[in-house]
Amino acid sequence: MNELLKQLTESQGVSSHENEVRSLILDLIVDDIDDWHVDAMGNLIAQKKGVGKSDLRVLIDAHMDEVGLMISGVDRDGTCKFMAVGGVNPRSLLGKVVQIGPKKITGVIGARPIHLLDSNQRGSVVKTESMRIDIGAKSKEEANRKIKPGDMASFVTKYEEFGNIAIGKAFDNRVGCAALVELLKLDPYPFHLVATFTVQEEVGLRGAKVAAYSTNPSIALILESTPAYDLPNKRDESPNVSLGKGPSIYVMDRGTIQDPRIVAHLTKTATSREIPFQIRQPGGGGTNTSAIQQTGAGVPAATLATPTRYIHTPVSMIDLTDFYHVVALADASLRTINLEQLQYD
Ligand SMILES: [Zn+2]
Repeated sequence: MNELLKQLTESQGVSSHENEVRSLILDLIVDDIDDWHVDAMGNLIAQKKGVGKSDLRVLIDAHMDEVGLMISGVDRDGTCKFMAVGGVNPRSLLGKVVQIGPKKITGVIGARPIHLLDSNQRGSVVKTESMRIDIGAKSKEEANRKIKPGDMASFVTKYEEFGNIAIGKAFDNRVGCAALVELLKLDPYPFHLVATFTVQEEVGLRGAKVAAYSTNPSIALILESTPAYDLPNKRDESPNVSLGKGPSIYVMDRGTIQDPRIVAHLTKTATSREIPFQIRQPGGGGTNTSAIQQTGAGVPAATLATPTRYIHTPVSMIDLTDFYHVVALADASLRTINLEQLQYD
């Protein structure tokens, strides 16, 4: 069992309420770094001194927040209204268990039993506004004693492994956090390493914007989880990335064209070390890379991601070999990157 992934995915951290996952990460890395602080927005910023003569300041980023729900009010019957925090598909919500607020009050996203649905209702999607979280309260007053508007609700999913496969919640982006924790445990790099575990990525790359500004890196590598759309389709669409076929290297998404020099370095390193990799189909999505790349005077940046099925739902799936290959490829690429590679001709 990969204890690191278990601990990280089972801890809570809906955007802006990352306290629990942040303290866990700090415990996990504190012996492997030289200095750390938490900035005004809640980003955990760690410094690890280099051992070589390299002038590079390398930022490695992994956002630690996850998508979830925010309580927006309580109805007369004691059930709770909610809104999505980040991109959550309403189809994946009904019947799921959540934990609300700092006291982790358990609730169920209520679903009307199929016996009580007419044929129209069976075929239609229930909107988030029409759903309620049921905490078993008998009245509005009773519910209000336990929860309040603004409380965050996060999914409750036990981490499990079978063979190379792992399932759990919030692999986006605890899998990136786990990779960054692993990199910090390795021997120091020739350059000064800044590790940022950032907040509020899922609501608009907000933490990374200020973390990149304050740390002023010369280059950046962003560790992420990317949706794998690799199951059989009605139309024969080629998968964007597949589980088990290696780390996914971004080239372009909605917010960036990834730095071609770093992309070339990543693919060259993977090929020479015989680490499998897949180029993520360009288009769609977005990561902290776009916020970091356009910070200050600009930062050459690229994204390396673990393919993940069922991203942004209460339970997602990865192939553990992809995760180990992300760590291996990030490590090998970082040890050989230098300033000359980043000069334009
Ligand atoms: Zn993400």
